[in-house]
Amino acid sequence: MNRSRHQVHCSAEGCKVVIGRGKLFCEGHYYALPKGLRDGLWDAWRQAMDGRDGTFTMIEQAMFNRDYQAAFETCVMHLRTAPMTSAVAMTATAIAADGREVRFVEGRQL
Ligand SMILES: [Zn+2]
Repeated sequence: MNRSRHQVHCSAEGCKVVIGRGKLFCEGHYYALPKGLRDGLWDAWRQAMDGRDGTFTMIEQAMFNRDYQAAFETCVMHLRTAPMTSAVAMTATAIAADGREVRFVEGRQL
């Protein structure tokens, strides 16, 4: 298989970021999802994967697959409207006593 022809792109609409196999979104889009949606997505994925060894009936497996698909689509829909979490969004700006802007990234002053 020609790997370069099978690059996996972020599932967010319009995002061209190449991501690793087994991933759904680039980091920026993934972390733009509220924690509840991220958790729901992985719970649904795990539930659907658990049945790959034939534990569930076909009807149960189909239901879990649909749940996972629905959770995934909910995430994609959310990302249509949610701003991507950029490096700028992850910094905090505070105003120092003398009125200057003081920027912090992950708790470190710039
Ligand atoms: Zn993306």
